[in-house]
Amino acid sequence: MFADLKMKFNPFAKIISGELECKKVLENEHVLAFYDIAPQAPVHILVIPKQEIVCIQECDTDSRILNEMFKAAQQIAKSLKIEDGYKCIFNNGTKGGQEVPHLHLHILGGW
Ligand code: AMP
Repeated sequence: MFADLKMKFNPFAKIISGELECKKVLENEHVLAFYDIAPQAPVHILVIPKQEIVCIQECDTDSRILNEMFKAAQQIAKSLKIEDGYKCIFNNGTKGGQEVPHLHLHILGGW
């Protein structure tokens, strides 16, 4: 499943390995969060697992990572002062609009 998606370039793997730079907002042993390069809102952050996971379908045996991602979202919303209102979006699979083959949570806010 998701063979088409897995063939795409994965910039987030390069961000995790340090080959690509990012504007980091949070990092812990489980996740990394940074500003989106093409923001769709005044504040647009991406939260990614450090583990190689392509999409939600691959989280079945490790749903703990989703919890870690939402915990990071809470902390980021507080630190960036958007906790009164923001969107959390997962584009999942090519048909779901996912372009980058590494699980990521979009946090959009700041309007
Ligand atoms: P999606 O369509 O859900 O796969 O979203 C991928 C997101 O990653 C888009 O909003 C892109 O702007 C963003 N993106 C792609 N490459 C980078 C990068 N090197 N640094 C930060 N954001 C990126």
